[in-house]
Amino acid sequence: MSNPAFASLIDAIRGHYRNADFIPLHAPCFNEQAKALVNDCIDTTFVSSVGQYVTRLEEEVAAFTGAKHAVAVVNGTMGLYLALKVAGVRAGDLVLTQSLTFVATANAIKMLGAEPVFIDVDADTYGLSADVLQAFLNEQATLKDGVCMHRASGRRISACVPMHTLGFCAEIDRLIDVCSAFSIPVIEDAAESLGSTLQGRHSGTFGQSGVFSFNGNKIVTTGGGGMLVTNDDALAAHAKHLSTTAKISHAWLFEHDEIAFNLRMPNLNAALGVAQMQQLPDFLREKRALAEKYRGWIETIPGLLSLREPKNSQANYWLNGAILPDLPARDAFLQQSNDAGIQTRPLWTPLHRLPIYADCLRTEMPHTEWLADRVVNLPSGVVCHG
Ligand SMILES: *Cc1c(COP(=O)(O)O)cnc(C)c1O
Repeated sequence: MSNPAFASLIDAIRGHYRNADFIPLHAPCFNEQAKALVNDCIDTTFVSSVGQYVTRLEEEVAAFTGAKHAVAVVNGTMGLYLALKVAGVRAGDLVLTQSLTFVATANAIKMLGAEPVFIDVDADTYGLSADVLQAFLNEQATLKDGVCMHRASGRRISACVPMHTLGFCAEIDRLIDVCSAFSIPVIEDAAESLGSTLQGRHSGTFGQSGVFSFNGNKIVTTGGGGMLVTNDDALAAHAKHLSTTAKISHAWLFEHDEIAFNLRMPNLNAALGVAQMQQLPDFLREKRALAEKYRGWIETIPGLLSLREPKNSQANYWLNGAILPDLPARDAFLQQSNDAGIQTRPLWTPLHRLPIYADCLRTEMPHTEWLADRVVNLPSGVVCHG
């Protein structure tokens, strides 16, 4: 049965997107420059991982975010893997993260043979809760010779990976304070938050390192790609070395001093990224304007709430969302909007509910469960003028 209040929101969305028959959750928008730079890669034959656009994109992301270094990689997932690897995460370790995230966050931890520990999120930031983290560490962890140990299992706790959910900044300053007291490095999963700032400082630049994704559905895309940012010179150099098969630089010899993979972004993808970075300020402006519109539409519907930018922060509004009153209402809205050709979706199924991660250590999850049962994401791509 169709709900007239939902129908009014659906009509408003359709109107914003110029009455298209199908409105995707997020679609990229390319300018003429993107075509010109990709063509330049083809014309010069520099299509692979050597080429000017890879370093140019690194420089531009570093300048935009204020990070000292940026290392371009094949995607965000492998960026997280690399960030954890250079942080010293090893097989058998525990790594703290949130359950309310895309599966890649936990998969990157597993890729190193470590185990995720799921911590509940905060109700106001939708990211890892500093209070819950503090309580967990106080109860279950101890510092031993400068190393954080999980008392019951005797395992090292070697990193913490908060995620800036949907581009809303997590309480990253408080999380770093909590982790510092236990000597735990913080790696920010900033895959969704390029353009988001907290107290004027860019997400991804608070922790030891941060990782952005340039997947096709993110605010800036390179087709597939990612970027690790850090202010640590040695860490950046090590990450770049490990992303290029740990080959010792030499004009003709092939010598490698670690077992490492080819994770470097190809020039073709980077060319797309350089053109996209020019559009990023416009994307951010348009997304903020759309978020304002959504707030108006959503808050006229009784029982619906919009997602709120946390205090002292600027979200990139990568994906807009609405909070429905309960799970049946959420599902009714998803049905009605998708039937009408408006692509909407729930948040990710919390990872602790997936059979592949059900056995992991975790805290209680009241905020994770509450949000997962109620939040829907709404079409948020920019209206593209080409
Ligand atoms: C998109 C995303 C990733 C992974 O990025 P890919 O570039 O697709 O590998 C990781 N974490 C979160 C939270 C994401 O949204």
